[in-house]
Amino acid sequence: MDYDIAIIGGGVNGCGIARDAAGRGWSVFLCERGDLASGTSSASTKLIHGGLRYLEHYEFRLVREALMEREVLWGIAPHIIWPLRFVLPHHKRLRPAWLLRVGLFLYDHLGGRKFLPPTRTVRLRTDPVGAVLRPEFTRGFAYSDCWVEDSRLVVLNALDAAEFGATIAPRTACVAAERVDGRWVVALQDQTTGERRTIRTRVLVNAAGPWVAEVGMSVLRTEVPESVRLVQGSHIVVPKLFDHDACYIFQNDDGRVVFLIPYERDFTLIGTTDQSFTGDLGAVRASAGEIDYLCRSCSEYLRQPVTPDMVVWSYSGVRPLFDDGASAPQQATRDYVLRCDVPAGGAALLSVFGGKITTYRRLAEAAIALLQPHLPAASGQAAGWTGRHALPGGDFPVDGFEALLHAAAARYPFVARVTLRRLLRAYGTRADDFLRGATCVSDLGRGFGADLTEAELRYLVRAEWARTADDVVWRRSKLGLRLSAEEIAAIDAAIGGMVAG
Ligand SMILES: Cc1cc2nc3c(=O)[nH]c(=O)nc-3n(C[C@H](O)[C@H](O)[C@H](O)COP(=O)(O)OP(=O)(O)OC[C@H]3O[C@@H](n4cnc5c(N)ncnc54)[C@H](O)[C@@H]3O)c2cc1C
Repeated sequence: MDYDIAIIGGGVNGCGIARDAAGRGWSVFLCERGDLASGTSSASTKLIHGGLRYLEHYEFRLVREALMEREVLWGIAPHIIWPLRFVLPHHKRLRPAWLLRVGLFLYDHLGGRKFLPPTRTVRLRTDPVGAVLRPEFTRGFAYSDCWVEDSRLVVLNALDAAEFGATIAPRTACVAAERVDGRWVVALQDQTTGERRTIRTRVLVNAAGPWVAEVGMSVLRTEVPESVRLVQGSHIVVPKLFDHDACYIFQNDDGRVVFLIPYERDFTLIGTTDQSFTGDLGAVRASAGEIDYLCRSCSEYLRQPVTPDMVVWSYSGVRPLFDDGASAPQQATRDYVLRCDVPAGGAALLSVFGGKITTYRRLAEAAIALLQPHLPAASGQAAGWTGRHALPGGDFPVDGFEALLHAAAARYPFVARVTLRRLLRAYGTRADDFLRGATCVSDLGRGFGADLTEAELRYLVRAEWARTADDVVWRRSKLGLRLSAEEIAAIDAAIGGMVAG
């Protein structure tokens, strides 16, 4: 097969580029060695944020672009992205209150805000958000950012790309590529069957995240001029620590911050760490030291300490940061760098270094702008379309979620309200694709535990490339937090039957 653009890597950056390019009218192929979002893009803190901390490193361009993206992304995916309020307690030994206020003033004004509420001062002795904090924290600030279901954002970008005609090939590794007669010939290997095949493409994108240098050197056999700095970050999940929907951002005396975020209704997500990573990228785990660090950091602020025995789940990922020579991992830039390499008469190779989930759409636009001179004239949407066109299921107003839920509850009165809320948060208006026609719970088929039904599972296999229980319970959803090992094994077996059948 011949394509205009082939992309290696089904993380947020690869899928974002695939979506933009397919919508612009080019023929697109994307391969992902594992499941979509099985790399860093499912292991983030899940914030669409400017990054208050990056202001201290004078990253104004990045912070401004990221702040502007908050409302754009919320607008195209109001099911999986929603606003959050962050409470930042003033710690008398750390940054002075005036500095926090200046930072937050910039944060409020740098990136334009239409819907997100501005910063306000919070009296922690009287405000309910102060109740879980130690009494010495008397004053704080509350500011706005957004939440994103990171792995769902990746899948929805892939789905939209596919609906614009892209070929999405999960569980397919790029094992070699070479330039032949002005094109790339790319060798692929199906990771399930072992079968090999080749495709040809005008331009090739290396969006392999933390593996970008490894793919550049050992798969593409090219010089990799920029180097990537690998920085590990881990998160822990504990039973819910507080009963409101605001988050906390705690400063540490080592310059880092730790977030506490309401998570999956009954839990609190705590993260993250920042430590240089060497070793096997396929086997990244939260270490006992990191878990201890996260527990200690938040216990410094909370009336009730958090201890390692409270941890019900942890996950870890590796940031593929552009190596700007900074000494400490937390100081390395979070900005992205794109390198386009076009030898005389040869096909273009674009490599992606660094980036954040928040800026994936802008990164994709910048990538396409660099590739456009090497592609035929675009025949589809105009540049910038991805910020105006809803992602699958996100075609409702940003303040329309409760109305959507209300209407769905009238159509499907037999589905518990909490389940319906979960389904609409995951699939938005697409939940109708597998609920439509059902008139009672048994119409949704077998139950697998938690509130997962056969109808939802079939949809995930049919429409979202799910092939294993892990794809379903840790990436398309977080139902793994509520399911036993036996229930997860039964899901695996059922998927096997669905795929074979
Ligand atoms: C702890 C942590 C917290 C973070 N928090 C945030 C946050 O709150 N907000 C934010 O905006 N950003 C955050 N980030 C950053 C963000 O998660 C990453 O920048 C982003 O996910 C990187 O996406 P990617 O597509 O470049 O890489 P990845 O998601 O890693 O995707 C690369 C893919 O390439 C695939 N691949 C590799 N080699 C091959 C091959 N040979 N063939 C086929 N496929 C291949 C891999 O399997 C992988 O899935 C965080 C990162 C970490 C680690």
